[in-house]
Amino acid sequence: MNAKNLELKTYISEEKLAAKVAEIGKALTEKFKGKKVTAVCVLKGSFMFYSDLIRQIDTDITCEFFGVSSYHGGTTSSGEVKVTLDLSTPIEGQHVVLVEDIVDTGITMNYLKNAIESRKPASLTTVALLEKPDALKVPCKLDHVGFQITNEFVVGYGLDYDGYFRNLPYIAQVQNFQ
Ligand code: 5GP
Repeated sequence: MNAKNLELKTYISEEKLAAKVAEIGKALTEKFKGKKVTAVCVLKGSFMFYSDLIRQIDTDITCEFFGVSSYHGGTTSSGEVKVTLDLSTPIEGQHVVLVEDIVDTGITMNYLKNAIESRKPASLTTVALLEKPDALKVPCKLDHVGFQITNEFVVGYGLDYDGYFRNLPYIAQVQNFQ
């Protein structure tokens, strides 16, 4: 029994998530050691991944938050990206690490990449915890991907269904959508 009466099945456990986050954090530490990084959290879905990841990156970091919405409550992307919160400071000349929860059609990540690039950072490194390669509608090259998954709707670890399930500490598949 839960808020939406949905049956959830663990898809990626807390242990697997923690190991992957540590691995990506290590790679980013090696890449940016001794440099200052601006880590951009894409709200809302990546807040949990982001907060775990930045604790695994051993260099100077400032935090920025970029709010976008493309689902408007359902389980399929509207294809239209709406900015709900812009960055609070200029990022020109900075090494930016963009942290996204999941790349589905690729439309949101492409939008974000263009939005960041247009502000002329010194570099842009893209990270997504999850990627659904079969769902891509536009080409979307990522620098770091946690897990490639099948084309199914997942929740937890920051990802929601209609606002719920973001607090699950693991990634789950929904079994019984009507
Ligand atoms: P895209 O623009 O790549 O189609 O969609 C990216 C956004 O859609 C993600 O940031 C995320 O908010 C949402 N999204 C895509 N797939 C899923 C999914 O399986 N579960 C949830 N909860 N959100 C998803």
